[in-house]
Amino acid sequence: MPKSRGLTPAQDRYLAIIYSFDEQKRDITTGGLAKALGVTPASVSEALKFLESKKLVERRSWGKYALSQRGREIASRMSHNHRVLETYFVSVLGLNEGAACEEASKIDMLVGDGLVASMCRALSWPSVCVHGRPIHHGSCRGCER
Ligand SMILES: [Zn+2]
Ligand SMILES: [Zn+2]
Repeated sequence: MPKSRGLTPAQDRYLAIIYSFDEQKRDITTGGLAKALGVTPASVSEALKFLESKKLVERRSWGKYALSQRGREIASRMSHNHRVLETYFVSVLGLNEGAACEEASKIDMLVGDGLVASMCRALSWPSVCVHGRPIHHGSCRGCER
């Protein structure tokens, strides 16, 4: 559950955007994140400092940051859940992409692993989400595959 990690939804979003930068092999910098999130570099620095204190991100040289192993685990689980949820909302419930993404963002850290795993199974473990980004399935496959 998110509470046990001590992160707010806003901090979760930072982790998610850092993860997507990482996936796209983009440099994770204060300026780049500020631009992507539409916030000031000062608020990004503050968030990065907090995530660093939680050992979720690490500062590298030249003002670049990287996810720590723990940060990567949390972010990859969150992105898996988000992408499965939005894909389910579009393919099964018929929501449009924007609405599906928005709704998924509200619950991607709260939804239980079992429920997400059932959705993965119902969708036959899709390899991409509605935005065309990769979905990496892990324990959700259970022992069925
Ligand atoms: Zn989305
Ligand atoms: Zn899955």
